Amino acid sequence: DKVLPKARYSTVSDQKPDESKTSSEKKEFQAETRMLLDIVARSLYSDKEVFIRELISNASDALEKFRYLSVSSTPDALPLENIDRALEIRLTTDKQNRTLTFQDSGIGMTKEELIQNLGTIARSGSKSFIEEIKKQGAEQANSIIGQFGVGFYSAFMVADKIEVYTRSSKIGSPGYKWSSDGSGTYEIQEVENAEIGTKIVVYLKTECREFSDEEKVRSIIMKYSNFIGSPILLNDNQV
Ligand code: ADP
Ligand code: MG
Repeated sequence: DKVLPKARYSTVSDQKPDESKTSSEKKEFQAETRMLLDIVARSLYSDKEVFIRELISNASDALEKFRYLSVSSTPDALPLENIDRALEIRLTTDKQNRTLTFQDSGIGMTKEELIQNLGTIARSGSKSFIEEIKKQGAEQANSIIGQFGVGFYSAFMVADKIEVYTRSSKIGSPGYKWSSDGSGTYEIQEVENAEIGTKIVVYLKTECREFSDEEKVRSIIMKYSNFIGSPILLNDNQV
């Protein structure tokens, strides 16, 4: 009998996220996140390409979480939108604009999840990283990054700026844009027409422009992401 709330925004993919009707909120990263970002952004860690593995692995996790929910929850307990969409990971290179974009049609994030997941380092890998830095000192950053990984934040090794567009697959969730240049703050803003799932636009530093080259990115995907359970498309072609 229950009437599900109507989706607030359509999932039609030719619509672009629209931020013209809302204003953005500026927030500060948690102190430890700031410390981690400082170290990551300044690091001379040579294996910068691992950020691609990290972002693909997050996209894959998000798709797995969505698959799990869609088979395990009753629609009443957790109404999910557009259950039948293609579950895949799409990477797009843009040399002119020096960007690499990761898009998944997974579980997405609510505003609270965005703030929690991308503003703090509650998660274990980044936490261990900070603990080791405190123990061993920042000079050891490179070897500690290699050992513990820094997940999402590793993209700040190569980025001037990162934009995250996300919309939770829970019916009725609005979409959000999160953006940061990796210094002390980030901004969050509600957007219309965000697709379900998460799109991450990495604006590459000049010296990291190689990651907007299709062949370079293809070889990195093939190196690290053989065991990803969802299709990976690069500029619309399956890798
Ligand atoms: P980890 O993957 O080890 O948890 P990350 O730093 O890689 O840590 O990511 C932090 C958190 O941000 C994830 O746990 C997840 O909750 C959220 N997240 C990151 N990328 C995505 C994504 N593509 N879709 C949904 N949630 C994401
Ligand atoms: Mg991760």
